[in-house]
Amino acid sequence: MDQEVKKFKVKILRDICITAGSCEILSPKVFKVDEEGKVTILDQGTQPDDSGFIEVTKDELKNVMEAAKSCPVLAILVADENGKQIYP
Ligand code: SF4
Repeated sequence: MDQEVKKFKVKILRDICITAGSCEILSPKVFKVDEEGKVTILDQGTQPDDSGFIEVTKDELKNVMEAAKSCPVLAILVADENGKQIYP
């Protein structure tokens, strides 16, 4: 059977975010730089799992991956639905 991965998860490492802001520009539905100048995830109602990952839809994944790759300090982690980290 086709084991297509349908859900992806994203997590941010706020401690190392340097407020470059490129994630918000590339994926404004998912990332926002808050009043503290640190990035937050717009979770759209989903709760983070035990590891702090929040689910994103497959539609958002392309933008999320571009945002993660644009982050100069690799503060954006992306995992598949099994929790296997796929970036960085
Ligand atoms: S691109 Fe990276 S450093 Fe810049 S705001 Fe986003 S998470 Fe923070």
